[in-house]
Amino acid sequence: MTDLIKPADINAAGHLQIGGVDALDLAHKYGTPLVVYDVDKIRATFRAFKRVFEEEKVPYAVSYASKAFCAIAIYQVINEEGGHVDVVSGGELATAKAAGFPMDRVSFHGNNKSPEELAMAVDSGVGVIILDNFHEIDLLSAILKEKGKWAKVMLRVTPGISAHTNEYIQTGQVDSKFGFDLGSGQADRALEQVLADERMDLLGAHAHIGSQIFDVRGFVGCADKLASLGKHWQDKYGYAIKVLNVGGGFGIRYTEADQPLPPEEFVRAIIKEVKADCQQAGLPLPEIWIEPGRSLVGQAGYNLYTIGSRKDLPGYESYVAVDGGMGDNIRPALYQAKYEAVLAKDPAAKAAERVNLVGKYCESGDILIKDCPLPKTEPGDVVAMLATGAYGYSMASNYNRNPRPAVVFAEGGQDRLVVKRESYEDLIHLDLKY
Ligand SMILES: *Cc1c(COP(=O)(O)O)cnc(C)c1O
Repeated sequence: MTDLIKPADINAAGHLQIGGVDALDLAHKYGTPLVVYDVDKIRATFRAFKRVFEEEKVPYAVSYASKAFCAIAIYQVINEEGGHVDVVSGGELATAKAAGFPMDRVSFHGNNKSPEELAMAVDSGVGVIILDNFHEIDLLSAILKEKGKWAKVMLRVTPGISAHTNEYIQTGQVDSKFGFDLGSGQADRALEQVLADERMDLLGAHAHIGSQIFDVRGFVGCADKLASLGKHWQDKYGYAIKVLNVGGGFGIRYTEADQPLPPEEFVRAIIKEVKADCQQAGLPLPEIWIEPGRSLVGQAGYNLYTIGSRKDLPGYESYVAVDGGMGDNIRPALYQAKYEAVLAKDPAAKAAERVNLVGKYCESGDILIKDCPLPKTEPGDVVAMLATGAYGYSMASNYNRNPRPAVVFAEGGQDRLVVKRESYEDLIHLDLKY
């Protein structure tokens, strides 16, 4: 049995349970493909992040990066936990609003926010707009002036750190589309411009070095760069940073081979670095903000599929096809992301063979798990792909005009539908006859 599955994940019937609910029952009740979140797990991880800050006695914010999974229900859960959220588009902001999420705990990110999105952020009263480039400073400045309003802002900087991760998901290196460069003086020019604008209240600096990072040195290096920037701004401009935002990117376990630190340990290392740097520089300790996305929802998510057809060819690994695929999880095709899967009716069953677990989409690349160890399976069996909760549903598409799956939250033995399955009417509701 994969050690991603713990004895507590198996119920008395020997089935996989999620949030205390039998996964087979969920598949039968809601149909497949189905996305299920164990909300207990999301809350536990969130509280573990908060606990570190409280133990270390540091003012903080844990801001959920909602692009990892965005739906009204997740904003409600994060609100219940007293968290902040990051949004990266007008659509995510609209979803947070629809959830009744307090706007003063929203951070608005993005490298090319439109004038309409910036105006929406200002009108909504979001907590902070993270400015990414000079074009955006000018746009926001004009919008604030025209509306006669004020806004809290932060400056996103690129700390010049290449975190050891897949190159498509690293963002902290100098050659990046995100943020103001530190070495060339761009960040100083941005600071001067923002300080000169009486309608902008600068909270501090932000950096996000990448995603699915296992090496704590990347985060410590980033925290150190930001603290040094704080010292530099204090010395040169007499400006004291109030918030130091180190972003997200904490790595999680997709397979047994992944051995990250517990997410809160990354945070402990960051806090220690900032404390030491500030003490040495004689700076007051700023608030430390983190922005976990993947680490909050990734391992709490499961994709349930039903097995259909199979292709066997002597001398080749067999193909076992399920009723979903790249439309509900593009990550294997996009990033060669690795996952594990188990049978819902017997997650502890020994593997009997290795197969290619593939989807139903018309692409040869629609392979969910290559060389996947599985017990003997039959059409109708329900498989659960593990740790699919981050960047799965949020990247889902209607390719091949397949409806996107339903999403269910399970917690304390109760399940609740939080996103309906798309219908064929939904799929064509924007189409007009020619
Ligand atoms: C995507 C993103 C995050 C979250 O990254 P994870 O790897 O999901 O933790 C945090 N901050 C910013 C600015 C991001 O763009």
